[in-house]
Amino acid sequence: MDLKTPTLATSARAEPRQDRAGPADRPSREEAEAAVRLLLRWIGEDPDREGLSETPKRVVKAYEEHFSGYSQDGEEFLRRTFSETEGYDEMVVLRDVRFESHCEHHILPVIGRAHMAYLPDKRVVGISKLARLVEVYARRLQIQEKLTAQIANTIQDVLQPKGVAVVIEAAHQCMTTRGIHKPGATMVTSRMLGAFRSDPATRREFLGMIGDPASKHGFDV
Ligand SMILES: [Zn+2]
Repeated sequence: MDLKTPTLATSARAEPRQDRAGPADRPSREEAEAAVRLLLRWIGEDPDREGLSETPKRVVKAYEEHFSGYSQDGEEFLRRTFSETEGYDEMVVLRDVRFESHCEHHILPVIGRAHMAYLPDKRVVGISKLARLVEVYARRLQIQEKLTAQIANTIQDVLQPKGVAVVIEAAHQCMTTRGIHKPGATMVTSRMLGAFRSDPATRREFLGMIGDPASKHGFDV
């Protein structure tokens, strides 16, 4: 099993820098607010009516929060926080980390849960840090496959464990509130590296611990 060539790694690793606008290209807050006013006019609204006068400011502020992940570096973050294992080599599992992200096709919310595990080799990290790592990547425009790969690859690259598993279940509002309108549909993605990929027993143990959303949804890992 060759860890150097995981299938989804190329695009995920080239990221995040290419996703970010350089400081020189970055529009001002006023320009961003003007863009919201333009969209309000485009849907047939009057951006100057009382109820909407503060809306462009609020939308830009909400965007700042939703997309704060662009100013954070997931690898940097984990590198600062790992410590030596002192011999601990059992599976570390963190399940049901709720996250909010936005799909890059419609800028609509993607709300889901991430389940993560790794088999430590020399390094461990506090579980709250893994939850924060999910947030760093979720607070960007995303596709679920890429989010899953970014989390797994970052854990692999920084902690260099014997294996990493990430499973994400999420509902995409672009599917549930528009287009094909499929409320209740969730998407499941997974990324298995090292022992989780090569050893079915390790993978089963992890899936058992998270309640196996993959088999529940008939998704083949
Ligand atoms: Zn979408």
